Amino acid sequence: MLAWLLRGLHQGRVTTAYPRLAEPVGDGYRGTVEVLEQRGKASSGLEALCPTGAIAAGSAGRVSVDRGRCILCGACVAAAPGRFAFAARHETAVRTRGALIVPAEAEAELEPLSQTLAEQARALGRSIHVRHIDCGSDGAEEWEIQALWNPYYDIQRLGFFLTAAPRHADILLVTGPVTRAMREPLVRTWEVMPVPKALIAVGTDACSGGLSPRGTLTAGGVDAVLPPDVYVPGSPPSPIAIMHALLLATGRLRTEVAA
Ligand code: SF4
Repeated sequence: MLAWLLRGLHQGRVTTAYPRLAEPVGDGYRGTVEVLEQRGKASSGLEALCPTGAIAAGSAGRVSVDRGRCILCGACVAAAPGRFAFAARHETAVRTRGALIVPAEAEAELEPLSQTLAEQARALGRSIHVRHIDCGSDGAEEWEIQALWNPYYDIQRLGFFLTAAPRHADILLVTGPVTRAMREPLVRTWEVMPVPKALIAVGTDACSGGLSPRGTLTAGGVDAVLPPDVYVPGSPPSPIAIMHALLLATGRLRTEVAA
């Protein structure tokens, strides 16, 4: 608390300048996992390192990581540091599920904002009401979402306001793998939100089910029930990562950050 106060007095402000300025990354922050240089390296046994099945070995020793399934446990980085590493950055949100799988099969241009999302973004403007629904989260993502409205992140300065009323909401943040009991409340919440609206899957559980894959108890991710406009992986994603997702969904940032 004292350090925070002194830093505020020294800097003249406590609030982050993101997205105008890049947000520094703290020591030990894992961000996301990347696959290192592949040429001439064996891939046997790498898939078995991952508890969520995020690692896939293809032909000719090519390995990929599905960030939408990665819980950032670090097992692959510890066991095969020549093949995997953490990429300590906040901006991990993407607009398609396929973009969470790295490295991409081919170098692809970052997709422009889809027509629908672009129209939504224009219509949503700069006073955006956000509804959050917990669909079976372990609670980690909720802490990060709540932090967006504290004095440091102060996301109201960017025009985002929390609402408890889905009929007033423009954006729905969904956390958790979508348990059987939450499936219907999720759909009903989405259906009563007025158009235009956008849906963001927040965290690895919402992106893919994480450690709770598709089965009788969970849907294995939001997109088994509704189509997200933006996916933000991480277990949990940082407040800046969620802010990045909100800015992507509203067209305030035009581009994703390349993998
Ligand atoms: S860090 Fe991610 S990809 Fe690596 S083993 Fe853990 S869950 Fe799997």
